[in-house]
Amino acid sequence: GPAASGKSTVGALLAQELGYIYFDTGVMYRAVTWAALKRGIPITHEQAVTTLSETLRIQVAKPTVNDGRQYTVYADGEDVTWDLRRPEVNEHVSPVSAYPGVRRSLVKQQRRIAQQGSIVMVGRDIGTVVLPDADLKLYLDGTVAERARRRYLEVVQRNGEQAEHNHTQDSVYQSIYQALARRDEIDSKRLVSPLHPAEDAILVDTT
Ligand code: C5P
Repeated sequence: GPAASGKSTVGALLAQELGYIYFDTGVMYRAVTWAALKRGIPITHEQAVTTLSETLRIQVAKPTVNDGRQYTVYADGEDVTWDLRRPEVNEHVSPVSAYPGVRRSLVKQQRRIAQQGSIVMVGRDIGTVVLPDADLKLYLDGTVAERARRRYLEVVQRNGEQAEHNHTQDSVYQSIYQALARRDEIDSKRLVSPLHPAEDAILVDTT
């Protein structure tokens, strides 16, 4: 499902309940994006970004710090867990994930991870592309307004601020709403593995 539909919250709880591995594939696209930004590789440079996705070592491990994280993500050995949530990553991750070579390389790694045992895998194309033979496919979705509200609350809480009583008037909410709608649009319209439910997925409206 799309951003803030509840995938990672529900996915992590489900994995815990079942005693399965939990894996959020979004962190891989985010790690490549963050590494490109940090190394000054232009996001528009498809070949360079693709090569980066083939060489960057992305590892996801149990949380190493008790700061609300679900896991710790390393990119070439460096802890990038919170860097992956920066606005500049949100802004550039959709074009990165639309590159066919980037998807090829990351999907290959995701399938390898899924072979390690029973797993709850979360992302945009898991039921349609990565694991088409999955035993259970759930597609979570919600209105843009509600998903933006969730992200807005996350942001204000993380900054230790008070949420506006009428959040729709808050410029922070408005920019989150716009960015989310834009990301949905790119993710749904890209040519390779666009965001859509698998035919045999169970649809869950989390609004
Ligand atoms: O789920 P999250 O917001 O962390 O995903 C970040 C971005 O990574 C998405 O906007 C999408 O462009 C990309 N993504 C993807 N396929 C996945 C997971 C994430 O294209 N399986």
